Amino acid sequence: AQRRYASIRKEPAKTLCGTTIALHMNAGLMADLPSLQSSGAEGVGLFRTELQFLVRSKVPRRGELAALYSRVMEAAGDKRVVFRTLDIGSDKVLPYMKPQDEPNPAMGWRAIRVGLDKPGVMRMQLQALIRAANGRRLTVMFPFIAQLDEFRLARDHLLREIEREDRLGRPLPSKLEIGAMLETPSVAFAPRQFYELADFISIGGNDLKQFFFAADRENERVRRRYDTLNVSFLSLLEQIVERCRDTDTPLSFCGEDAGRPVEALCFAAIGLRALSMRPASIGPVKHMLRKANLAEARAVIDAARASGVQSVRPAVMDWLRHRD
Ligand code: PEP
Ligand code: MG
Repeated sequence: AQRRYASIRKEPAKTLCGTTIALHMNAGLMADLPSLQSSGAEGVGLFRTELQFLVRSKVPRRGELAALYSRVMEAAGDKRVVFRTLDIGSDKVLPYMKPQDEPNPAMGWRAIRVGLDKPGVMRMQLQALIRAANGRRLTVMFPFIAQLDEFRLARDHLLREIEREDRLGRPLPSKLEIGAMLETPSVAFAPRQFYELADFISIGGNDLKQFFFAADRENERVRRRYDTLNVSFLSLLEQIVERCRDTDTPLSFCGEDAGRPVEALCFAAIGLRALSMRPASIGPVKHMLRKANLAEARAVIDAARASGVQSVRPAVMDWLRHRD
């Protein structure tokens, strides 16, 4: 199987019906970067920046972070890297952060909520990113945005830091893209302005799914209870696809499910055109997509839905078995 994937490494994830799906990889460490070449990923669709904060006993310094981000951009060359700002708090407690005693940490004071309420660390991180870019393109994504104003405020922080760097006479990014992660169901129903303001949106399926089904992703007892291919979840994803299409907002999906071939195929069938996953999943997902006719997959999904099933998985699996 590894050889089969190696032979398509340089090929696009183009389906039988001629649709190309962009496959990106998720990363979080400098050590992940060599996979960008070996996996055939188009870029880094999600760079989780919290790891550098978790492995230290003190807040990392701006210079240190800037040097690291710069090395990441250097290693990526022409390929785009989407830097997600700190997704920290509650369960991912930094050694140097006052522990919060919260009954529901996943729904507590985390990610952008911390960043907006106590912006010091986030601003420092944004400065580090701008300096690392040093005149190159810069792509920043804010995690756990649950409503329009949070995105507006986060975006304003970044724009203010850009102005500040400009006043200091430092080089500005040649191109700046500011995106939001869609990880709470509320955002699927946000005002149109949210979609217009975002340069791109990436679905954080791990969190989105846990909040949609109210099933803790860390709790073994419930985490597999609800299928990603549940018809309700697919409808939610379709709603997001449509809103992005209406507003011309580039959309991708970066949760773990993007790296599962059957899920990836269904996501493509309902209109997703970019997926970001762990590097080892790129080969299997590409292989699946290259053998697929999306219109047929879509027809199978629609027929299953019309028949009143809870999940389209059995119908899709059945179709795949008979097709091959
Ligand atoms: C997600 O929630 O799907 C996601 C990509 O972010 P994380 O897994 O880091 O919460
Ligand atoms: Mg998340």
